[in-house]
Amino acid sequence: MPDLAAFEEESAAWLEANCPASMRSPMPDDEIVWGGRRASFKTPDAKLWFERMVEKGWTVPTWPRQYGGGGLSAEEGRSLARQMRRLGCRPPLQSFGIWMLGPVLLDYGTEAQKREHLPKIARGEIRWCQGYSEPEAGSDLAGLRTRAVPEGEHFLVNGQKIWTSYANFADWIFCLVRTDPLARKHEGISFLLIDMMDPGVRTRPIRLISGASIFCETFFENVRVPMTHLVGGLNQGWTIAKRLLEHERTMIAGMGERSRGSEVKLEDLAKSVLGEAEGRLADPVLRDQLARYAIDARAFELTQRRAADEAKRGQPPGPASAMFKYYGTELNKRRNELQLAMLGTDALGWEGPGFTPQNLQTTRAWLRSKANSIEGGTSEIQLNIIAKRVLGLPD
Ligand SMILES: Cc1cc2nc3c(=O)[nH]c(=O)nc-3n(C[C@H](O)[C@H](O)[C@H](O)COP(=O)(O)OP(=O)(O)OC[C@H]3O[C@@H](n4cnc5c(N)ncnc54)[C@H](O)[C@@H]3O)c2cc1C
Repeated sequence: MPDLAAFEEESAAWLEANCPASMRSPMPDDEIVWGGRRASFKTPDAKLWFERMVEKGWTVPTWPRQYGGGGLSAEEGRSLARQMRRLGCRPPLQSFGIWMLGPVLLDYGTEAQKREHLPKIARGEIRWCQGYSEPEAGSDLAGLRTRAVPEGEHFLVNGQKIWTSYANFADWIFCLVRTDPLARKHEGISFLLIDMMDPGVRTRPIRLISGASIFCETFFENVRVPMTHLVGGLNQGWTIAKRLLEHERTMIAGMGERSRGSEVKLEDLAKSVLGEAEGRLADPVLRDQLARYAIDARAFELTQRRAADEAKRGQPPGPASAMFKYYGTELNKRRNELQLAMLGTDALGWEGPGFTPQNLQTTRAWLRSKANSIEGGTSEIQLNIIAKRVLGLPD
């Protein structure tokens, strides 16, 4: 494809010229650029790289130009991703808006909603969070009870969400609300966009086992939300909710792959802590586990790429996203367990002398990885979806 070859050449040259050297190194978690009204950049290079990519539309390369995207075809988007991987370029901006809300607005939003929200996501001006789970509605998401009652040109929203990641930093929340309490549970749900600055919205952080506090309880008390912030039809929210989850699960499945770049390579770590005998890892049991992990990780990566190549317009692979979510997150947990097994008691530190920052990071990453097979829907729920909707097995 001559056009694609030309694009590849041009984009590679552009990246070479515009991606600062410091933005071509693995990215620690605290240097991720999330954007938003309170956006912060750890270094001037991070800001420069972000601004250059925004100008090019390459924070969201395949979104249409009129919504702040790069207007690239799916092939060009994949080619750009390949070039960025090859050069080790950091993602200039990461956000729930890019991964989850944007793609569903492109499919289900009105023209006015697309023009209002997509460019702000692309330019990193607004940071979104996800208001799905409630205290009594996690796996059984359709059992949610946050109410939105029509009142003139507004909905009056009351209720509580839980586990809302980064709600305390977010500017807006995309939310599932109950708009018909009498309908069957999947049929009385709507998808609403709410400004976190609206009076009556309140958040309270919750601490994770890893010590970090990435998520919150979110409360809505008589919040007035304009009807124009309803996405899709009234009581049609479940269809949108499911589509968004497919995007979310595809994103979470790739978490392990993304973080691999920012961590020590397992093979190198194994060599340094276990030593070598006759050019091979000295510990035969761990050597075997490491080889199995490496083979499975490679097979998973290739399967993901094949699915992405087969998908039209960059869409997620439908219910098959449950397979990726399940396998990717279990794989990431295995990776963390292996790292822990190699370091032994050195990887069980929390703080204090005797533990290197790398060891402490390993402990916390291992604890954080436990949440991978819960967030975005638990592994058990993914297995249920695979059984019913991918394999078509009877109930
Ligand atoms: C790090 C992290 C970030 C998160 N971020 C967000 C966010 O930003 N926004 C948001 O809305 N939510 C978020 N969540 C919430 C997440 O979506 C829920 O935790 C998840 O859906 C599980 O719901 P639950 O915690 O209520 O567990 P429950 O639904 O109570 O499940 C408890 C256990 O029962 C099992 N189980 C339940 N039902 C079945 C069944 N039918 N068959 C087999 N087993 C079953 C589950 O697998 C699980 O092991 C986050 C969670 C984590 C851990």
